[in-house]
Amino acid sequence: MQKIAKKLVQVMQECSYIQKTGTNDFHHYRYATSADVLEKINMALVKQKLCSVVLPEILQQADVTTAKGNIEHMATVKIDIMLIDAESGESVSFSGIGTGQDSGDKAVMKAQTAAIKYAYLLSMAISTGDDPEADTKTDQMTSIPVKDKQQIQSVQTICCECGIKLTTGVRNVSLNKYGRPLCMKCQKKLQGVA
Ligand SMILES: [Zn+2]
Repeated sequence: MQKIAKKLVQVMQECSYIQKTGTNDFHHYRYATSADVLEKINMALVKQKLCSVVLPEILQQADVTTAKGNIEHMATVKIDIMLIDAESGESVSFSGIGTGQDSGDKAVMKAQTAAIKYAYLLSMAISTGDDPEADTKTDQMTSIPVKDKQQIQSVQTICCECGIKLTTGVRNVSLNKYGRPLCMKCQKKLQGVA
């Protein structure tokens, strides 16, 4: 655990403060978007050759009535994040829980995004200068900014075995097939082809 612990300290140092770039149009205050958090975390993880595996689990789904009388969907999602050091093979795991509310079909996605964001914020002890309660509410009540959606699609990952950078396509295929991000070469090795 010594090698990965040292790398995590580096990640924490690099992410010790994440600037707020999002604005809540209704309440007029700034908050750290999920894109802000994930962008910074991912840059730091890739630099340290740490690869991340995220496993979401839906804990609860329900319909709620808003103050205006509209029915919205609410979802609570638990995510487990495992960070694997591509150099030493050591790993650490931590979890996060998030809630999302949406009139359409995006409640689970919002909950998942919030859960990932808070898992990193808490486990890496990152400050965004926010009142946590105000921030949670923001996540629940506003839709995810376009920047966030793109970011989540294009989160940079490295291969768990050799540490090279992966494209989104390769990462997704590998996650589906092997449950962790691997490059084409390491996937072939697993299949016994190479
Ligand atoms: Zn590889």
